Amino acid sequence: MVDWNQIETVLLDMDGTILDLHFDNYFWQEYLPVHWGRIRGLDPEIAKQQLIPMMKSIEGTLSWYCLDFWSRELEIEIIQLKADIEHLIQVRPSALEFLEALNTSGWKPVMVTNAHEDLINMKLKKTGIGCYFSHIVSSHRLGSPKEEKAFWESLQKSIEFDPEKTLLVDDNLTVLRTARSFGILHLLGIAYPDSRGPERNTEEFTAIYDFNDVLSPPLMQNTKS
Ligand SMILES: [Mg+2]
Repeated sequence: MVDWNQIETVLLDMDGTILDLHFDNYFWQEYLPVHWGRIRGLDPEIAKQQLIPMMKSIEGTLSWYCLDFWSRELEIEIIQLKADIEHLIQVRPSALEFLEALNTSGWKPVMVTNAHEDLINMKLKKTGIGCYFSHIVSSHRLGSPKEEKAFWESLQKSIEFDPEKTLLVDDNLTVLRTARSFGILHLLGIAYPDSRGPERNTEEFTAIYDFNDVLSPPLMQNTKS
């Protein structure tokens, strides 16, 4: 699936790639609207009908990913509410083995995420995956979401990488397409970003079903040596 001889840099998304997207989907589609509705005396279904289209309308922008924005907009401390369901933050199947194998074989990956820094901290604390990464880059720090080319231009200024020798794994097709137009050559999607959701069609991108599929023989040999 991956010719590791061609790869110098590994960029990995967090939510839906290394971590189960169920936590985020459940929070935004269920837990938050119901909580928000309860405060306003709204029926859960009515609350969802009001909130979900509003969220959809700014999908993919930095605000959409910004907890401060939603805390202000909805007058709810989002990070505190997220902590209520912290137990749903889970590493995806075989992702830990994949991170271990990468590290053992000399590829210290870089995390590239649209998640807000407070949420990154919560998730790293909960899962302990931070130690596997050389850098953890939030789009909020770079000023543009991964859906925009400006993110990749800023990323290249902050960490040096050759796009033609870079592998990006991300569950977001818009992000994969932007990265491709920037010149990143090796791109993989995720078949089941949400463990409770349906299979995703990753269209022109090869999908990872299990990270063990990505661990090609040279990497495994390196791991064992
Ligand atoms: Mg993602």
